[in-house]
Amino acid sequence: MPFTSLGLSEPICRALSDLGYSKPTSIQTRAIPVVLQGEDVIATAQTGTGKTASFVLPLLEAFQAKEPMRGKRVRCLILSPTRELAEQLHKNIQQYARYCDQSSTVMVGGVDSGPQKEALIKGVDFLVATPGRLIDLLHQRALYLDELEALVIDEADKMLDMGFIDDINRIIDRAPEDRQSLLFSATMPPPVRQLAKSTMYRPKEISIDAQHRGADTVEQWLVAVDKDTKSALLSHLIKENDWQQGLIFIETKHGAAKLAEQLGKRGIEAEAFHSGKSQASRERALEEFKAGKLPFLIATGIAARGLDIEALPRVINYDLPFDSDEFIHRIGRTGRAGAKGEAISLLSLDDFKNLCAIESRLGHIIERREIEGFSPRKEVPISILNYQPKNKPKAKPKAKPKKDRASKSGADFKPANKGRGSNSNSAWSKASSTETADQDKPSFRKHAPKNTKSEKAKKPFNPWLK
Ligand code: AMP
Repeated sequence: MPFTSLGLSEPICRALSDLGYSKPTSIQTRAIPVVLQGEDVIATAQTGTGKTASFVLPLLEAFQAKEPMRGKRVRCLILSPTRELAEQLHKNIQQYARYCDQSSTVMVGGVDSGPQKEALIKGVDFLVATPGRLIDLLHQRALYLDELEALVIDEADKMLDMGFIDDINRIIDRAPEDRQSLLFSATMPPPVRQLAKSTMYRPKEISIDAQHRGADTVEQWLVAVDKDTKSALLSHLIKENDWQQGLIFIETKHGAAKLAEQLGKRGIEAEAFHSGKSQASRERALEEFKAGKLPFLIATGIAARGLDIEALPRVINYDLPFDSDEFIHRIGRTGRAGAKGEAISLLSLDDFKNLCAIESRLGHIIERREIEGFSPRKEVPISILNYQPKNKPKAKPKAKPKKDRASKSGADFKPANKGRGSNSNSAWSKASSTETADQDKPSFRKHAPKNTKSEKAKKPFNPWLK
């Protein structure tokens, strides 16, 4: 199906043809007509599926014949959890809008706000922003959202994980109620659904089956290994297989720094990439990695969001994520747009619970390879596919808030800025509330119930490890 049959006009199709896009991806085929009709949309789609174009293209089309914006006004606001993703989104908009008369600008923290304010003076069609900087500039009256026509919340699950819920609600409170709202998320845990429910009007739901996309183009395998020999195994794999490039996922910032040092000692150039590093050093590392000058980037899961790297040959899970959807999201960083990719996981015994959940979600066992000299002293059992976390959250749990690492699971989060602004007519209070039986009823904007309690999912539990 060509892009023209989705209702996109010649200037947009020409830009796509310049980019070498011959046909729409599955999220584009499904989302573009719905967004063009002005509907609210909630979409489960990870980075790598072509989701950016699925909302930017129809909005560009819809805005074609519109009058220029008034000063300091924004037509479409796209909220992004990270600076890197914001920059990437902005770059994509510029590419797609190449033959359209529409403006786009980006506003992120960590850089001087002067030029960002100047860019807003004449009004702008597309503004891509991280929540913190946007709030700052709203307070400074550098822009107004009173004429906003469309709001896009991208990577909503990460946005909530990172504690942006209060900021999102403050932003939404300043936007007109009759705007079009679009929400994209790699995973769809209850808090994201609640956010959608409290901020969108009868959203159409679109879900892209990420696991099949991954299976088609990404070769997945894992190696069982003792935790203390993981870095030696990784160095061995890199050297033996002559890997020229890879994105390495690790759990902690400290772990990232340590691994970069360990690889460096073995003559492998790698750099840590996480939120503890300055914006300038992250940007430089990313540019070098993209240009192929830096072979390995070691990223924590959150920092890696928004990294759009063409033709990434492989991702390596140095640690397995707690959340199986996060795993699928990670492997989606490679094998993009039909290219072949490779996803390798280093599996130690303490990753086993996560592996069970991941394989159960994937619906298949990941191929295991043995590497001579690295057989684990602590054997990692083969998982079963009908694995069910014993303490799966029920429809109406009476769970007490619990401060543990399960909050990373995606089924559970707490705001980093909890306590700030307890005036909670907010989607946070809804988002954190227990899912209710009226979930499938038509949804309406705002008016979240006050003082609802947090639903706290418990960590997946594997009885075999008892
Ligand atoms: P996204 O999921 O929006 O981050 O897009 C992932 C990558 O796929 C980006 O590098 C896009 O440029 C590319 N892409 C998006 N749509 C298409 C398409 N229809 N055909 C080929 N590549 C695409």
